[in-house]
Amino acid sequence: MIAEVIADGTIQVLDHGFVRLDDSMADDLSVVNAARVSFARRKEAMDESDEGLIRFLLRERHGTPFEHNSFRFHIRAPLFVAREWFRHRVGSFNEFSMRYARATDDFYVPEPEDVRTQVGKPGSYSFEPVEPELAEATREELRAVYDAAYATYERLVERGVARELARLVMPVGAYTEFYWTINARSLMNFVSLRAAETAQREIRRYAEACERFLEEKMPVTYAAFVAAGRIAP
Ligand SMILES: Cc1cc2nc3c(=O)[nH]c(=O)nc-3n(C[C@H](O)[C@H](O)[C@H](O)COP(=O)(O)OP(=O)(O)OC[C@H]3O[C@@H](n4cnc5c(N)ncnc54)[C@H](O)[C@@H]3O)c2cc1C
Repeated sequence: MIAEVIADGTIQVLDHGFVRLDDSMADDLSVVNAARVSFARRKEAMDESDEGLIRFLLRERHGTPFEHNSFRFHIRAPLFVAREWFRHRVGSFNEFSMRYARATDDFYVPEPEDVRTQVGKPGSYSFEPVEPELAEATREELRAVYDAAYATYERLVERGVARELARLVMPVGAYTEFYWTINARSLMNFVSLRAAETAQREIRRYAEACERFLEEKMPVTYAAFVAAGRIAP
């Protein structure tokens, strides 16, 4: 199932976005060997006792053995999602530059069922669907703002304004791209926080995509993470 979905290493997210695993050096054996070096022991293949060891390490929050691996993702996401993402300090980022390159004209327009209203009090909001008419009106309003913003951007660039200034008109619904390199411990922290119900729906979809790559590359670690209540070690 997972292998089928991510056969070419890419998961499409939202209307113009994706999560692509550019490369990785990640397996469950690295966790086991990092832990067993304490006893000057090393294994070439996993066995059942190693699976138990991984479950123990996760449950008891011995986090460092989960750091000897690496996932390098290439991500395309709206700016407001990237902004939430970049708050995760343990990891490395490089982002597309609107100083040096022309801004994209791809903007995020939520599907009608993803247009939602906020209900409840701070700390316990829920996000409910809106009437179809309001959903469509929201999409139209967004498209109108995006069209106007991008037309202004192009006009300013054509008249000789530097891209680094013309970009000021770009809305946070515009797409950006970045590389993100991270180890499994930090990835679990990201998934724990951002694939949760409390996270904004859009970044949640990205976190769910990252989660599938974790599951594919480190299935024992992933299963232990889920069994431990999705709390990063
Ligand atoms: C639902 C939700 C709502 C949010 N709302 C807001 C908001 O309203 N305003 C806002 O500003 N942010 C908000 N955030 C962002 C949040 O505060 C974190 O910045 C973000 O989730 C990154 O988490 P992190 O620090 O665990 O990750 P990372 O920065 O990747 O850090 C990983 C871990 O390393 C350790 N660590 C990293 N840096 C330090 C440090 N300086 N000192 C000690 N330990 C450190 C911690 O154990 C941390 O958990 C929100 C996040 C979520 C998920």
